[in-house]
Order: sequence, then C-alpha cells, then structure tokens
Amino acid sequence: NRIISGAIREEDLDGEISLRPKWLHEYIGQDKAKEKLNIFIQAAKGRNESLDHVLLYGPPGLGKTTLANIIANEMGVNLRVTSGPAIERPGDLASILTNLGEDDVLFIDEIHRINRTVEEILYPAMEDFALDIIIGKGPSARSVRLDLSRFTLIGATTRAGLLTSPLRDRFGVMLNLELYDIHSLKDIIIRSSSILKIKIEEEGALEIARRSRGTPRIANRLLKRVRDYAQVIEDGIITWEVAKKGLEILEVDELGLDAVDRKLLIALIQNFGGGPVGIDTLSAATGEERATIEDVYEPYLLQIGFINRTPRGRMATKKSYEHFNIPFNE
Ligand code: ADP
Repeated sequence: NRIISGAIREEDLDGEISLRPKWLHEYIGQDKAKEKLNIFIQAAKGRNESLDHVLLYGPPGLGKTTLANIIANEMGVNLRVTSGPAIERPGDLASILTNLGEDDVLFIDEIHRINRTVEEILYPAMEDFALDIIIGKGPSARSVRLDLSRFTLIGATTRAGLLTSPLRDRFGVMLNLELYDIHSLKDIIIRSSSILKIKIEEEGALEIARRSRGTPRIANRLLKRVRDYAQVIEDGIITWEVAKKGLEILEVDELGLDAVDRKLLIALIQNFGGGPVGIDTLSAATGEERATIEDVYEPYLLQIGFINRTPRGRMATKKSYEHFNIPFNE
C-alpha cells in the first residue's frame, strides 16, 4: 500500500475526467514503441486488415492499458478489456472470443497469469482465428472448428520472460515499455495539471517528476496529493517549494524512495555487507515478495544505479552507500 507503488490504487481511478491520452500523438515519451506502433497501425489500416497481435511488457503503471485503448481508437475498432486471472475456464474465454466483432481489439492484462487450459484455447484463436470445440464424450467425441472474426490480441505483462514460449511466439509485435525519463514525466504532469485545472509551475512539475520513479501512474498520483497540500496549506499554486514540502509530508525522498526502499537497501548494505545476495534471501530479510521486488522496485533501483544485478545476486553500489552516508569500502 505504498504511495510510490506502480500498482493501481483506488485513488488512481479516474473520475469523470480521464487523464488517459486517447491518441498516439498525445501519448508522451516511449518514442521507440510509439514509432514502431505508428508504422504497424498505418500499414494495417492501409491494407484494411486487423493489426497483428501485440505484446506489451514493462513494470506496472507505464501505460500499457492506455496504449491498448489508443490502438483500438487509432484502428477505429472496439476494445474489450479483461485480465489473465479473470478468465477462469476455457468457456469464459470462448464466450469473449465469439462475441468480438471484426477487427476488434481484445486486451488481456497480466496475460502471464492465464491458466494452462485457457491458454491452449488462445493458440488456434490467435493463429487461425478459430476455436476447436470437443462435442460429446468417449468414442463418439469429435472436434468441431468454429470460425472467429479476425481480431487483435493485446497482451500486457511485466516481463516477456514470464510467458510460455508457445504463447510468446504467437505475438507478431513485441513492445518493451521503459521507465520514463524526468522530462517526459514533467510533460505528463503538466498535461494532467491542465486537464485537472491545477496551477503548476515548471519547476514544481520537475520536482514531482524527479520523485515519480519513472512511472506516469505515480506521477499523476503524487500530483494529486501535492495539489491537496497546495490547496489547503499554500495558495493553491504548485511552485518548486510547494512541491518539495508537499512531497516531504508524503515521505517520498528526492529520488522517489520511500521507507520500504530504504529498508531494502539498508538490509543489503548492513546485513549482507553490500552483497552479492540472492533475491530470495533479500525477500526473506525485508518481508517483501520476490516478484514484487523483481518487477516493481528493482527496475527503478537499477535505473538510478543504486543496485547491480550480478549472476551471484544483488549488490549495493557506491551511490547507494553515499545516499545513506555509509562509508563505502572498495
Ligand atoms: P499500465 O497498464 O501499464 O499499468 P496505465 O496504462 O494504466 O498503465 O497507465 C497509468 C496512468 O498513467 C494512466 O491513467 C495514464 O493517465 C498515465 N499515462 C501512462 N502513460 C502515459 C503517457 N505516455 N502519457 C501520458 N499519460 C500516461
């Protein structure tokens, strides 16, 4: 339940005003992914075909659901949203698939959590736009093939490696979303401020961007909390000072680290002499789940150069020691 977690929280749900960009040109940053996607979309539209299946991977809160919405919009088709854990039985997926219209987009979030029997339905659906249904039992059982409309599957996951290879191989387009740089985050914060009618100065937006861990969802969340602070304690305008004070109250430091990160890094430095230490040991020492450390916290700590991943485990870097004023011994 951390304010700097990329996972979705109640407060992130947009009310009547949506912060989600609707078109590719409004989607800030991720230039590599955007450029590829733009070409594929134009090409598919030019041929009057559905877009090839797309796999989006990257940490939570980077804009995967947003991109799925944009793709459907740009293609001018309907979007159906579901998630891996929500599809329990093969019949659930069969019913979703048979209800898709021509060229529609089906978005499956957390696709790596789909169960095996459901996954097997996806193979012929993705490849041949067909469902194989078994009718009857025993010796009289026979398989009937049912044609589906052509559709685009967009799968989202934190790491491409979490998918089985038969599933991964059936995606024609794989796009890796990376943590955003501070300038893209600043632009996202300024865009969101204008939608939410929040008065903000460029330096204020930059200060929030710096502490958003490369993640738009966190940036929007911090913006909303700093707005509350500005409204109640200050005169409503988010200047650099207001942003700084507001973020201090939230206990998010200048690098976007919170108490859990500090616990993790200090455990690594003090209990394990800076490492290398295995991820499971680190997980036991901090009480954080292994997958959460790997998918959510580690990408950012790696990006800011606070830890290194070596074959023998994680190591704290000099930068990390310096941050906590602990002498670093080469
Ligand atoms: P994911 O599906 O990867 O967890 P979302 O698509 O739900 O992430 O994005 C989280 C929030 O961040 C969205 O509500 C959206 O407002 C914002 N966002 C994400 N990417 C961008 C972007 N490139 N430009 C502007 N806002 C973005």
